[in-house]
Amino acid sequence: MIPKAQKMTAQHPDNKVLENGYKKSQNFFESDWILRHYLVKNSSKEGWAYMLDKWERLGGQAATEMDKLSMLADKNIPVLYKRNVLGEDVNEIEFHPAYERLKEIAVTSEMFRVKWHPPLKKQFQNERHTLGFAAGYLYVMAEDGLYCPLCMTDGVARIIDRYSEDGDRERLLKRIATDDVENLFTGAMFLTEKTGGSDVGANLVSADYEEDGYYRLNGEKWFCSNANAELILALARTNAAIKGTKGLSIFLIEKEKPNGEKNPKNIIRLKDKIGVRSMASAEIILEDTLGKLIGEEGQGFRVMTDMINLSRLYNSVTASGIIRRVLIEAYQYLSYRKTFGKIALEHSLVRDKLAELAALHQANFYLTWRTIRALDAADNGDEKAGHLVRLLTPMLKKETAFDAVYACRESMEAIGGIAYIEENVIPKFLRDSLVLPIWEGASNIMILDMLRATFKSQGLTVLFEEIHQILDSVEDVLLQNKAKELLQVSTDFASLSPDDLQLQAKPFFEQLANLYKVSLLYQNKDEESQKWIDPAIAYLKQHYFEKDKLQKQNYTTATIIDMIAWDF
Ligand SMILES: Cc1cc2nc3c(=O)[nH]c(=O)nc-3n(C[C@H](O)[C@H](O)[C@H](O)COP(=O)(O)OP(=O)(O)OC[C@H]3O[C@@H](n4cnc5c(N)ncnc54)[C@H](O)[C@@H]3O)c2cc1C
Repeated sequence: MIPKAQKMTAQHPDNKVLENGYKKSQNFFESDWILRHYLVKNSSKEGWAYMLDKWERLGGQAATEMDKLSMLADKNIPVLYKRNVLGEDVNEIEFHPAYERLKEIAVTSEMFRVKWHPPLKKQFQNERHTLGFAAGYLYVMAEDGLYCPLCMTDGVARIIDRYSEDGDRERLLKRIATDDVENLFTGAMFLTEKTGGSDVGANLVSADYEEDGYYRLNGEKWFCSNANAELILALARTNAAIKGTKGLSIFLIEKEKPNGEKNPKNIIRLKDKIGVRSMASAEIILEDTLGKLIGEEGQGFRVMTDMINLSRLYNSVTASGIIRRVLIEAYQYLSYRKTFGKIALEHSLVRDKLAELAALHQANFYLTWRTIRALDAADNGDEKAGHLVRLLTPMLKKETAFDAVYACRESMEAIGGIAYIEENVIPKFLRDSLVLPIWEGASNIMILDMLRATFKSQGLTVLFEEIHQILDSVEDVLLQNKAKELLQVSTDFASLSPDDLQLQAKPFFEQLANLYKVSLLYQNKDEESQKWIDPAIAYLKQHYFEKDKLQKQNYTTATIIDMIAWDF
């Protein structure tokens, strides 16, 4: 007799998605031995000691409280109130309490304070960016929308510090260095207009001199993130006859005019964005808005570039943090998901995908931190580092943004159906990551900027010097030959037509970036790190330079764990 099928219930112990034992991460700092290893080696004992408890706290918050807050803020987006009940124009934006709490966590992490509070700024002058960005890197593993306003806050601080008069500098920087969120002033930059995003030289907003260094700004700004910022830097034209970027100056717009009246700012509407939804991006009309000239008239674009380059670095820190976050999500899930009678990680193709993502993570991680280190050195007068950071910033921005989107998509597929569902964090990260290749300049613009850096600085020479030095010390013949080939290509640049040069520049800089990433892995290899760096080098050499090779290495689960650097 055929046995009768047993009636199945939803409560049956076998009816579940994951094997027993699965648990969520509890601290993104404690478990990240790649980050810890890097920071121990590249920050001072004092810097490490000062920030350690903040990083530990933030790593815990990012994995737990912030993660929930970020999901909430993503689903409960800001609301614009144009008018109050009396029909008066108010132009106020209301945020979900989750967003406000996320802001408070950012302030208490001291990601700004360590850079701008005068005694700390002095004490950690040589490593301010390293210390601050380490907090940022942990922060973005939970929340990316708010990291954009935070980025612009730091950027505005940089410009105020460099170009404002003493009174403003002192008055405003203490509002950024504050450890009390109620006192915080956040920043924004209004560059983009309908006529130009990449091409800001096409901008139309006008600035007419009023008095005491103040100008009246009029016209429309088309993409204004952190629309309700207390400190806004806006580009505007003081003389319509001077076309292009030469005619642009930069102005600081505060919420109130010097006489205490409200500074007018007509927020037309908030953008309905695919990602970074927790934060408000608006279309804004400036109507006799009072702005104070920063730097010299006609130097606006040059001043702004300083802020844009810092923002690009923030973009890359975000990308790098996102890659790590989605990678650990995929790894954890696949370590407990059973398919065809096995834990998913026991399938070689699953391991290969994780090895790829882990190798890409390391490549982006070390490139990001190399650029941060170069900025710290450049800010302290190291000329060579200045040249290097000029070239690396657009290179890094392009590479990390591309890989962040890729890593989100690949992690989603690796996890499968539930990663497509909005209750999961992966869709939020995928949506958020999509802005990274666009904001602060699309990839084409990064290629053009790398070309500019090549002709106007010695960045390429410094970069090749470093690559040669690293590769000679490890005697990697494949990469040494690649370096020679690329150097040869670059010597022909001057003879190419503009179109040919741009077309040649794209694969050139992409291959150069890949070469540098592997070189940096060698540079960061030591007795401790070799267990995660060696397999990443092996993977990336084939991935970048031997794509046609059919035979692939079979990475063991133990190697995957080493590469991901995740103990739980
Ligand atoms: C969520 C979000 C927030 C934003 N927040 C802000 C903000 O706070 N402040 C602000 O000022 N801006 C902001 N922006 C605007 C953003 O910086 C611009 O969208 C970006 O600079 C690109 O400009 P664009 O959209 O006008 O594209 P365009 O400049 O019109 O470019 C269109 C395409 O043409 C390509 N292209 C353009 N010129 C060239 C060239 N010479 N050679 C080759 N290719 C070229 C570009 O790569 C791009 O793919 C935001 C955008 C988004 C999506």
